[in-house]
Amino acid sequence: MKVYISIDMEGISSIVDWSQVDPRNKEYERFRRLMVGDLNAAIEGVLEAGAEEVVVADSHGRMSNLPPEEVHEAAVLIRGSPRPWLMMEGIDDGFDAALYVGYHSMKGTERGVLCHTISGRVVDAVYINGVEMGEFGLNAALAGWHGVPSIFISGDQAVVEEARRLVPNIRGAVVKWGVSRYAARCLHPAKARRLIREKASEALKALDEFKPFKVEEPVEVRMRFATSTMADVAALIPYAERVDGKTIRMVFDDYPTAFRGVRTAIAVAYPVEER
Ligand SMILES: [Zn+2]
Repeated sequence: MKVYISIDMEGISSIVDWSQVDPRNKEYERFRRLMVGDLNAAIEGVLEAGAEEVVVADSHGRMSNLPPEEVHEAAVLIRGSPRPWLMMEGIDDGFDAALYVGYHSMKGTERGVLCHTISGRVVDAVYINGVEMGEFGLNAALAGWHGVPSIFISGDQAVVEEARRLVPNIRGAVVKWGVSRYAARCLHPAKARRLIREKASEALKALDEFKPFKVEEPVEVRMRFATSTMADVAALIPYAERVDGKTIRMVFDDYPTAFRGVRTAIAVAYPVEER
């Protein structure tokens, strides 16, 4: 069995603040070690359940957070950016399952620790065929397009609930309970790792009960930006329509192209200066 793991940082055990996920800050060194701890627990879990190959995509910020020598040696590590498929770089139909470690909920989630959708500064909301999706949904749909089921997620309670709305039987490891966007009740990291290992293993052993999460094609993308200026610029994308002050709409034949559309819209809106 070949397993894909996408790992973000905001949903890692005990992380509650941007400073802890920002390499410019001293705190970051400690928290990238907690990140590798949560990851290795998931890798041990899937190995225990019979995985033979594990590919890990380091998917936070500049996407080179994991100290390579500390990652379980069973895994091949994808690191660095830019890369076309972002948090899902390397996913293809050769994988049997996709797992998500250290994920966070979509922007605007109550008690969602460090919640945002791809870029907190730019994106207010992304709707795929009318359903608002966070990073889990957007990424799980890409795995699903390749026929790969999404079977496990770790992070705070909010992201596990968000994932269950799309994939009801996904196995979840809740490592913290949000009190606010920047506060949480946290499991001890050692306990969090045991839980991640257990649930990841359980998920892969139950692989038969999972189906790939797919969105219907053609795909309607609606994106609401943080400001109307950002929407002014994003609306210049060929065939994009302006829906209202902050929202654009685009329709794509297939999901990977829609995913690229979302990426492109963020890339063009990102440098916009408000004045
Ligand atoms: Zn992140």
